Amino acid sequence: MINRIALLMLCCVFLAARAPAEQAPAAAPQSAIRAGKFIDVESGRTLSDQIILIRGTKIEAVGPDLKVPEGVPVIDLSNMWVLPGLVDCHTHLADAHDSEPLNVLKRTAVEMAYFNIPNAQVTLMAGFTTVRDVGVYRALNDVAMRDAIAQGIFAGPRMYVAGAYITISEGAGDMTGLAPDIQLPRDLRFGVANSPWEVRERIRELAHRGADHIKVLSTGAVLTHGSNPKSIEFTPEELRAAVEEAHNFGLRVAAHAHAAEGIKNAIRAGVASIEHSTLIDDEGIALAKQHGTYLVMDIYDGECIQTQADEPADFLEHDRDLDEAQRRNFTKALRAGVKMAYGTDAGVCPHGLNARQFAFMVKYGMTPMQAIQSATVNAADLIGHSELFGSIAAGKSADIIAVKSDPLADIHVLEHVAFVMKEGAVYKRE
Ligand SMILES: [Zn+2]
Repeated sequence: MINRIALLMLCCVFLAARAPAEQAPAAAPQSAIRAGKFIDVESGRTLSDQIILIRGTKIEAVGPDLKVPEGVPVIDLSNMWVLPGLVDCHTHLADAHDSEPLNVLKRTAVEMAYFNIPNAQVTLMAGFTTVRDVGVYRALNDVAMRDAIAQGIFAGPRMYVAGAYITISEGAGDMTGLAPDIQLPRDLRFGVANSPWEVRERIRELAHRGADHIKVLSTGAVLTHGSNPKSIEFTPEELRAAVEEAHNFGLRVAAHAHAAEGIKNAIRAGVASIEHSTLIDDEGIALAKQHGTYLVMDIYDGECIQTQADEPADFLEHDRDLDEAQRRNFTKALRAGVKMAYGTDAGVCPHGLNARQFAFMVKYGMTPMQAIQSATVNAADLIGHSELFGSIAAGKSADIIAVKSDPLADIHVLEHVAFVMKEGAVYKRE
């Protein structure tokens, strides 16, 4: 899938990394993109005829009158709409797309690692050059996947990972539904905690093992056996301990929460984002606004839960009524001006379909530009790396995609990305 330009660039990066210390490093390779239409997510406007100069993995300059130095290869996207690489703030790339979580127990950790490589590849090819991955049943598989992609072992988006789920015993992020006398190995129960001090202990270990953020499960879940999405799981004390301990290591906290009280407990504790936010009430919306908490509302994946033939009956029962409530609350929170970042819970729907949520966000009240901003500038702000990605600007990573018609006129266009560049390397060009 990686084309020749990408291979050449990867090859150059690789050679540069291996050059003996005494040799002067070769100048990073340059390229340029001619963008017919350029969606400027920072100003919310579409510009025409822009040149993007790229050096190595970074954007060097952007503007209408830039001169392309002689000999620098030009990628001609003059008949396309160019925009920043997309960001999904809620994925599970290191877990299989499988409606039955207990199927994790049928595969070794090594099988899981190999079989999930395509999840990363299809996500990148769909135009998502960065993801915030928010939990994995086999602890630290996501850390390994992130590092393998970063080292160029296989193609995938830049990943920020949680390492495991911080959850109560038999809670939303635990492996539930087993006979009580079955003992799971530690990597399948890595994040289980039942007091503020146990929460701190798990977070200390995850921080040490390479997590980029912490995922806590504040309420029950839809896709967990024996769970009730309307129940409260972690207490306010435990959530405060999670945020304080994560902050000690410079990490932000993402809280899974469906029930209104669980959402408010997590916002008051100081989490960076509420995942799902399904039953958020007026007080929760006001609190999110006051605290600057992001909502990451996966308003598309109910389609998959309701239509997958093998969806367990108890999950369908949990999900009943929640999809419509979540979509109504998305509109309410949007109108109230709460910060929103794009997150699909990819893995619930098959990986690589991430862009299908854009149309739902527009249907439920966003302008197409707002929807695109949720997956670019807002997502980068939530992850805490606006200096690196989220817009096409000098100094940022050369993460650039293009589509063949105007996504502001028809947001579905983003479901068919024709060009993908990540860190200056071209991965897809139709
Ligand atoms: Zn999730």
